[in-house]
Amino acid sequence: MENDISQNMNWPILGHQNIVKYLERLIEKQDFLHTYLFTGPRDIGKKTMADLFVKSIFCSDRNSIPCNHCNDCIEISKLSHPDYIYVDREEGKKNISIEQVRDFQNRMSRTPMRSKYKIGLINNADSLNKESANALLKTIEEPSKSSMIILIAEKIENILPTIRSRSQNIIFNNVSDDEIYENLKSLGAGGDISKELSKFAGGSPGIALHYFKDQEGWNIQKTNLSQMLEIMDNSLNEKFFWVESIIKKNGSKDNQYVYFENLLDNYLKIARDLIVFKLDPEIELIHEFLKGSISKVSRKFSYEELINFYKNILSAKKMIFQNVNPRIILENILII
Ligand SMILES: [Zn+2]
Repeated sequence: MENDISQNMNWPILGHQNIVKYLERLIEKQDFLHTYLFTGPRDIGKKTMADLFVKSIFCSDRNSIPCNHCNDCIEISKLSHPDYIYVDREEGKKNISIEQVRDFQNRMSRTPMRSKYKIGLINNADSLNKESANALLKTIEEPSKSSMIILIAEKIENILPTIRSRSQNIIFNNVSDDEIYENLKSLGAGGDISKELSKFAGGSPGIALHYFKDQEGWNIQKTNLSQMLEIMDNSLNEKFFWVESIIKKNGSKDNQYVYFENLLDNYLKIARDLIVFKLDPEIELIHEFLKGSISKVSRKFSYEELINFYKNILSAKKMIFQNVNPRIILENILII
C-alpha cells in the first residue's frame, strides 16, 4: 500500500503553491512523466522548486521530505549523487555545448545505481544551441525506463518546438508583491526594506531574498540605480564617459552578458517608473526611494521620448545576445 507521505512534505518555497501541490502529488503517486519543462522569469523560483522536487524523490528520510540531511539530500546539493545529473551553461559561455549534452546523454543512459530513478536537470535550457538541442531531443524521444529530465528555461519560445511538445510545461508566474513583502517580514526584515525589495523584485522572490541576505549589496544596487537615472539628465559627453567606465569595469568579465542583461532589465524598470510618473505622479513607483530623481528626469522628456526609451531597451536586450558590442548598445539607449 502506498504511504500517505503528503503530510510529511512542507516545501519552504515562496508562492507557486499550485505547482507545489501538483509536484507533491506526483511524488505521492510515484507517477512521473519523462520530461518536465519549468518556464518563467529569472529568479522566480524554478531552480528552487526543481531542487525540492528532485530531493523529495530521492530523500531517504521519509519523515520530513526533503530532510536536507540524509546522504541523498546532501549529495544532490553537492551535485555528487550518482543518479542525479546536472548541466548548466558554463561561466562566461553563451551556450550549453554539444559536448556537455553528449556527456549528459551518456550518463542518463546508464541504469540508476542507488535509486529507482535517474534524474537529469538542465538549467538555462534556453541556452542550448540548435545542435545541442537536437542532440538532446534524441534522449527525450527515446527515454530509458525510470529516467526523468527537468528542463529549466526563462522563455518557452527559445526551446525547440519538438522538445516542447514532448514535455510537460510547468509555468511559473510572478509572485505578488504582497506575498514577497509578507515573506520578508516573516524572515525578520524591517518594513522599509521589505517594501523596497518586494517592489524591486518585480514578482521574482529570488531577487528579494538575494538582497535581503546581502543588504550591503542592496545599498550598492540602490546607488547604481540612482546613477543610472541621474546620467539621463547629463550631457551626451558625460553619458558616453559613464558608459566607458561601465565597459572598462565589466566588459571583460566572464559573465558580462549576464551583467549587461541585468543592467538593461534595471533600465527597463527605471523607464517604467519614468513613464508612470509622467502619467500620474500618484501611482506607486517600483523605486519609491528614487522619487526625487524620477520626478526631475521624467519632466525632462516627453511621453513619446520615454516610450521610445522603453522600446529601445527592449530591442537592446535582444541585441546583447547577438554579439552586438555592449558599448554601442548602451550609448544608443542613452541617446534619447
Ligand atoms: Zn533527505
